[in-house]
Amino acid sequence: MKKWLIIGGGIQGCTMASYLRKRLGINETEMTIVDLKDKPLMNWRLFTKRVGMSYLRSPSIHHLDPSPFALEKFAKQNGCKDHLHFHAPYDRPDLQLFNQHCDEIFEQIDIEKSWVQGRVVALTKSNHHWIVTLADGTDFHAENVVIAIGLSEQLNWPEWAKEGKKSGANIAHVFDDKEPTITDSVVIVGGGISAAHAALQWSKLRPNKVTLLPRHPLTVHQFDSDPGWLGPKYMNKFSKIGCYEERRKVIKTARHPGSLPSELKTEIERHRKLGTLQVKIDEVIEIQRDTLLLKSGGDLTTSGILLATGFEQKPPGMDWLQTLIQTYCLPCASCGYPIPKPSLEWEEGLYLLGALAELQLGPVARNISGARRGAERIISSF
Ligand SMILES: Cc1cc2nc3c(=O)[nH]c(=O)nc-3n(C[C@H](O)[C@H](O)[C@H](O)COP(=O)(O)OP(=O)(O)OC[C@H]3O[C@@H](n4cnc5c(N)ncnc54)[C@H](O)[C@@H]3O)c2cc1C
Repeated sequence: MKKWLIIGGGIQGCTMASYLRKRLGINETEMTIVDLKDKPLMNWRLFTKRVGMSYLRSPSIHHLDPSPFALEKFAKQNGCKDHLHFHAPYDRPDLQLFNQHCDEIFEQIDIEKSWVQGRVVALTKSNHHWIVTLADGTDFHAENVVIAIGLSEQLNWPEWAKEGKKSGANIAHVFDDKEPTITDSVVIVGGGISAAHAALQWSKLRPNKVTLLPRHPLTVHQFDSDPGWLGPKYMNKFSKIGCYEERRKVIKTARHPGSLPSELKTEIERHRKLGTLQVKIDEVIEIQRDTLLLKSGGDLTTSGILLATGFEQKPPGMDWLQTLIQTYCLPCASCGYPIPKPSLEWEEGLYLLGALAELQLGPVARNISGARRGAERIISSF
């Protein structure tokens, strides 16, 4: 019997593992992390590499170690010069430095000794503990389970793109497992930070052959929600909202999806003026072979289309969580998302983190800061 089992070894699950080991003194044999992938943070590494992101949007105190200044300390110990590895404003760290710091944490907590590769397909209760069942039939027993699966299994494919793919158009999602094969011109659909990064990356590879196609003018926000959501400024009021439909509305209004920091917009503008990148504000309504038909009445012909359209916003994991919800009558809001307690406990010994916990953690739940806040809440009840 394990003391703790974490489902999902992405940013959320690995932060939880780090807090359990470093703050709660759980040892590596008392904890198991189950993930589809063979190593921690595989989605994070793939997605950030795919869009060519070189530094984070979030500040240096947002990382996976419980100690807020651990990343800065790690940088100093490794002789990193602040002005080269942390970017103004808000000291946003280099992706490479951030990833090296994650690796250092994983070594410190011997994460590979807790790691199990597999797909969780069921969760059942037995005499005050949980049984976690994998697709190959293996069972794990644990006193406490944390579900930390993200949205990454549900890439957002607009209807026209699904139809286009079926009829053989060269369309890929920027976060597909497989590398896209685009040999000439490329249209990048989307207007947020991932679309902007991808457009800059592709315009270096294919100058003059890249079009960024956002639905609306590029919108600048330094962060994907106001920093007031990181603390009592907004969270006190949010936590007092008793109606979960209202909480969902507040989260939706607070988030800035499809936005980007100002320096990225400046960089896009620079490339546009140089002519290495075209930016066209329009919306695809249909695709015919290699031609995109646009809402404005115009069209765009291209040899490849890359979707930077994010993830579907429905709650993740419902293919197996639905049975759990029905069996144990677990509370969910009308948006389909779970309603855990403020401690993030959903049922005795069963906790949620990340997207699944956002009706308690608010708009930052899915980010690194949300992982820290969530892990803190979970361990503080022990
Ligand atoms: C390009 C990009 C840049 C970002 N930059 C920042 C930033 O600068 N700062 C910030 O705070 N946030 C940033 N974010 C947002 C956020 O931090 C990430 O999306 C975060 O990685 C989400 O973590 P997660 O653990 O929820 O999801 P994931 O990383 O997808 O991890 C979930 C894990 O669960 C596993 N899993 C799912 N279902 C099962 C199952 N049934 N059984 C077993 N395992 C399962 C998956 O294999 C996966 O490894 C960025 C996101 C992207 C895409």
